[in-house]
Amino acid sequence: MVPTLTAADRTAAETTAGPGWAAEVRALARERDAVLLAHNYQLPEIQDVADHVGDSLALSRIAAEADASTIVFCGVHFMAETAKILSPDKTVLIPDARAGCSLADSITAEQLREWKAEHPGAAVVSYVNTTAAVKAETDVCCTSSNAVEVVASIPREREVLFLPDQFLGAHVRRVLDRSDMHVWAGECHVHAGINGRQLTEQSQAHPEADLFVHPECGCATSALYLAGTGAVPEDQVKILSTGGMIDAARATGAKEVLVATEVGMLHQLRRAAPEIEFRAVNDRASCTYMKMITPEALLRSVREGTDEVHVDPELAARGRAAVQRMIEIGNPGSGE
Ligand code: SF4
Repeated sequence: MVPTLTAADRTAAETTAGPGWAAEVRALARERDAVLLAHNYQLPEIQDVADHVGDSLALSRIAAEADASTIVFCGVHFMAETAKILSPDKTVLIPDARAGCSLADSITAEQLREWKAEHPGAAVVSYVNTTAAVKAETDVCCTSSNAVEVVASIPREREVLFLPDQFLGAHVRRVLDRSDMHVWAGECHVHAGINGRQLTEQSQAHPEADLFVHPECGCATSALYLAGTGAVPEDQVKILSTGGMIDAARATGAKEVLVATEVGMLHQLRRAAPEIEFRAVNDRASCTYMKMITPEALLRSVREGTDEVHVDPELAARGRAAVQRMIEIGNPGSGE
């Protein structure tokens, strides 16, 4: 069940944190030798207080390279776990350990073991939005930037089990024309809620606008279809990871951009290219898990050292191997 955070809850959190909360968070982080990382889908005020803002894999790699002994990961739980997998000797905190992910929860390690038993010898490719236990059962991880290259690196005669996102899987299957690839039927409730009808309406209302579409979106197929029919010029449709969207925003000559992903992304896009008008394809596409990281929760985290993330060392070593295999294939780019 997806938790709901009402506007009243959020206001209460901000009030409790107090007006000087951001300065206090920074001072406590310095005292604790902590680096503050925030995902692109975090509340704007959390993004603004962080040392680094980005996508999940980029942040985990920053965490691994940072001198700080403590990582405060403002994101959802699997992301903090990935940071712990890559930085086993550091203390990793998440301000609210209840911040889950409907996509990561769509497959358990036990379900994956059963799926593997049905396809002995198959290569398991997992998107980074998975738990540490699922990564430990994985041959190679992928991000939305490199999913195509990762699957392409597996010989055609070997079966592939791709998980957990059906939309990203469909995108890879189409690009590589690999119809025999098995795709787990998981989805993110936020991205699945951005559909082709909304995209068509918005692109008709803003015909000059570029379309930035995250491949996890339910509308990714529609975006490619629109381009294929000529309804939207092909060069206006860009299927991008969240990190790729920032680069594309800096490079595009468009005055208007329609964005099909979680609405928190708009904050970083507007900072990267303030002259462009960015519009959400669905302005209600907000991840309630991400928004559980409130100023109050962050303040408590740096003050009390909560909530610490632990990953079993043996699982972490196996998960790390799957992430490292992906990095060796190249272009790890960014995750969600
Ligand atoms: S937006 Fe979707 S995939 Fe991302 S953290 Fe939220 S539930 Fe998970």
